[in-house]
Amino acid sequence: MSTVLERSAAFASRARELTPGGVHSNVRLSAPSIFFERGEGAWLYDVDGRDYVDYLLGQGPNFLGHAPARVNDAVAAEARRGSVFGANHVLENEAGELFLDTVGWAERVRFGVTGTESDQAALRLARAATGRTKFVRFAGTYHGWLDNVLMTMVDGKPAPGSAGQLPHGIAESYVLAFNDAAALEATLAEHDDIAAVIVEPVMFNNGAIPPAEGFLAEVRRLCDAHGVVLIFDEVITGFRVALGGAAERFGVRPDLAVYGKAMAGGWPVSALAGSAELMDLFAGGVVHAGTFNGSVPACAAVIASLRALREDPPYERLEAYGASLMRSIVEIGGDHGLPLRAQGLPMAFHVSFGDPAPVRDYAGLAGLDLDRYAAFSHTLADHGVWVAGRGIWYVSAAHADKELAATLERFA
Ligand code: PLP
Repeated sequence: MSTVLERSAAFASRARELTPGGVHSNVRLSAPSIFFERGEGAWLYDVDGRDYVDYLLGQGPNFLGHAPARVNDAVAAEARRGSVFGANHVLENEAGELFLDTVGWAERVRFGVTGTESDQAALRLARAATGRTKFVRFAGTYHGWLDNVLMTMVDGKPAPGSAGQLPHGIAESYVLAFNDAAALEATLAEHDDIAAVIVEPVMFNNGAIPPAEGFLAEVRRLCDAHGVVLIFDEVITGFRVALGGAAERFGVRPDLAVYGKAMAGGWPVSALAGSAELMDLFAGGVVHAGTFNGSVPACAAVIASLRALREDPPYERLEAYGASLMRSIVEIGGDHGLPLRAQGLPMAFHVSFGDPAPVRDYAGLAGLDLDRYAAFSHTLADHGVWVAGRGIWYVSAAHADKELAATLERFA
C-alpha cells in the first residue's frame, strides 16, 4: 500500500500533466509541486503561468480576493508613515472604533496577529473573571494550534489571569458533541469549575456543520444560568456570514468573540472583542501581549477592509453564488459516480464523499479513509478540479458569475 506522501507525489505529477489551470480548493495538501506566483481577485497563477479559480483563499483570509487594491494601497500609504509605532497610535483607535461599530454588539476590542493567540486571551479572561479553570468545547471544533500553550509552559510560570498552575493544556476541557445542548446542561449542572464555553458558531473545520435551530440560544441561556463565560470563536464566521458575524446571523450574543481570517483583506490580523466588564480585566493585569499586535499595517488593513465590506456588503451575492456552486458540485459529483455531499453556509462549505462528513477531533483527521479520498481527488483532478485535504470551499467577495462558469466548465 502506498504512503500518503507517495500518493500525494503521484497526484502532483499527474496534476502537472493536466490541462492548464483548474479549480483550486486545497492544492497544498494534495499537489505540493504546484507553486503559486501571484494572485488577483479570485484567481491564482502558478510559476508556469497556469491560472486557477481559487476556493481556498489562503485558508480563508483572502475574503476580498487576492491583492485587493484598496487594502494594499492603504497599507502601503500608512507604512510610508512608519510601520510599527510600538505604542498607542491613532490608527489603532480608528480601527477599533470602526470594528466595534461594524460588529455592533461588543464594547471593547484588542487586535492580535493570530486567531490562536486571541482565543487563548479569551480563555485567560474567562479564568480571571470566574476564578475557575476549566472549559467546555465541542468535539471536532478547532481553536488554533497549541504552540502558545507550549510557550507558556516553557516560560515556567502561570501567566497572569491563568488562575492556576500550568500546564492546564487541553486536558482541562470537557469535550461535548456539537449541537448537543442536553449534554451541556448536564455538564454545567455537574461541574462548578467551568470558566467558559467556547464554540465555533458554525462548526466548520470538521464538517461545516451549522448550529441546530435554537442551539446557540440554549448555550447562551445555560451559560447565564451557571455564571459561565460564552466565547464565540468567529475566526471562520466573522465578517464572512454577516457584518455582525454570528451574533447578527444567529441572533445570539456572546460575552467574548474572537476574529481573524476575513477581517483584514489577507493581512495577518486577529481580534478579541467583548463586554467592557470582561475586556477591562486586561487593564487589571491579565496579559495578552505581542510585538506586532495592533501594528500600523494591520490597522490600515482592518480599516480599509471593513470600509470595503460596509460600502458594498457582499453577503447576498455570496449566498446566491455559494448556493448554486454547492448545488452544482453535488449534482455533477453524482453524475461521475461520486457520492458527494456539501454542507455548511454557502459562503464557506465542506465537500465530502460517501459517509456523512467526518465529525471528529482535528487529530482524528488521520482516520480518514485515504484510499477513498485519493480516488475522489483523482477523479475530480481529471476534470481539473483539485479538492483535497478537508475539502473546504471558501467563497469570496471576488467570486463572480465568470468564476462560477469557469468552475462548472471543469466538470463538463
Ligand atoms: N479558530 C478557528 C475556528 C479557526 O478556523 C482557526 C484557524 O483555522 C483558528 C481558530 C486559529 O487561527 P490562526 O490559524 O490564525 O491561529
